[in-house]
Amino acid sequence: MITVLQILFVLVLIIIIILFVFRPKRTENFALPEHYPDLLNDYVKFYANLHEEEKKKFETRVQKFLSGVKITGVQAEVEDLDRVLIGAAAIIPVYFIRDWEYINLREILVYPGNFNMDFDQHGNTRTISGMVGTGALQNVMILTKWELRQGFINSNSHRNTGIHEFIHLIDKMDGTFDGVPEILLERRYVAQWKQLLQETISKMRRGESDIDMYGATSTVECFSVISEYFFEQPDLFAQNHSELNEMLERIFIKKNIPS
Ligand SMILES: [Zn+2]
Repeated sequence: MITVLQILFVLVLIIIIILFVFRPKRTENFALPEHYPDLLNDYVKFYANLHEEEKKKFETRVQKFLSGVKITGVQAEVEDLDRVLIGAAAIIPVYFIRDWEYINLREILVYPGNFNMDFDQHGNTRTISGMVGTGALQNVMILTKWELRQGFINSNSHRNTGIHEFIHLIDKMDGTFDGVPEILLERRYVAQWKQLLQETISKMRRGESDIDMYGATSTVECFSVISEYFFEQPDLFAQNHSELNEMLERIFIKKNIPS
């Protein structure tokens, strides 16, 4: 015969199981591999050009960033190199900004190759190499392992998909996704920046620019594409685009440039 005590015991057991299954999952404190400064030196030009003391600061920030974000491979193995490159892509744009945190990022999905808008990795429309999510995918970034690595391996290119997607996150941080990072750009420069973006897009459409044409799609893409170029080829960018360079220095480096 089942006693009240036995029923209570079963109930408590069920409650314990439910609590265990639905317990909040903590992000594991990610330990970077011992050789990760070597990976940074070999693959990340921005890091390799820093002084020793600054390198330590960069490493600490990469470590902190990777400890707070979940990285999940989708039919792709996420290797140490991928983690380190994701960390570098996150820190490069905000390296000069103290106490920066990507509060709008929870998880990064890593796909092996390009995907289409339905996140199907097969089919003929495999054109997207990275994106920041909206709607159900809010606070999620998608990167492809191939493009992430290419951005760092190809040191002569203006392009870096990882940096591109993190610039989108910075742009979105103020609540509007418009190519104007109001969280970093002083209010008095906003109108000038908007005008400069439009002028840049017009120049590109006239074929008078060496900026990747993808940037002519919209002001959002323009901001990300020129920022990739600014961080990947700083000398060439400063030489070819002095006005844009000044504004990006105001945004990312917080240089006090006389107006
Ligand atoms: Zn984009």
